[in-house]
Amino acid sequence: MSSPAAEAGVERLAGLMRAADSVVALTGAGISVPSGIPDFRTPGTGLWATVDPMEVAHIDVFRREPERFWAFYGQRFASLEGSRPNRAHAALVELEARGAIDAVITQNIDCLHRAAGSRDVVEVHGSIATASCRACGEAVPLAEVRSRFERAPDGVPRCSCGRALKPDVVLFGEMLDEGAMRRAAGLAARADLLLCVGSSLEVHPVAGLPEVTLRRGGAVALVTKGPTPFDREAAVKLDGDVEAELVALAAALS
Ligand code: ZN
Repeated sequence: MSSPAAEAGVERLAGLMRAADSVVALTGAGISVPSGIPDFRTPGTGLWATVDPMEVAHIDVFRREPERFWAFYGQRFASLEGSRPNRAHAALVELEARGAIDAVITQNIDCLHRAAGSRDVVEVHGSIATASCRACGEAVPLAEVRSRFERAPDGVPRCSCGRALKPDVVLFGEMLDEGAMRRAAGLAARADLLLCVGSSLEVHPVAGLPEVTLRRGGAVALVTKGPTPFDREAAVKLDGDVEAELVALAAALS
């Protein structure tokens, strides 16, 4: 932490966390950016420079043109597979191990919280860990999906029943997993502090979780670059380097 203002912000956040019985983290794309995973909402980055993910990563494209869907998603899998958790993920693991946070709710599908060692992770947009058959329900682990993808003459990994596999992530045009969302809402409702990291809090229904915490009398802290709809209500806002900030927070609470 270089600036005194940033240090004061971390101290304030640490103080709120010490005083809270229940702290829940809510993470978005920003926490995975230091792992080399581009935030697709930032235009012109990597994969997203040439395709509009909201158009291609859509359930209708998967249904009608699985070849086109997988031509895009296969690249995405490849770029995610080589990525590793960063120091921000590690700091949340440390905080959970010390009992300073109860759980991590994430919008990310990259499995990096689990890879880092977080134990209680609620993946509200699903994850790339598996892909499933919508006809018979067979679930296939990532490595096997990749190998079927590479062997498939049309580039579409298939179930043993012959249907195209669908990544177990929530695509555009799909509903969020109801069970995961209910759990996330329950955690947000009983949190004294919702620690929002790397999320612009613009994508509903996850964007409604800070509202749930605030309505129940809890507080919201933001560790996020750029504006969010909760900047005014937030008890603390840090908008610098996410790794440096979470590392400093974990150190302040040790
Ligand atoms: Zn099947």
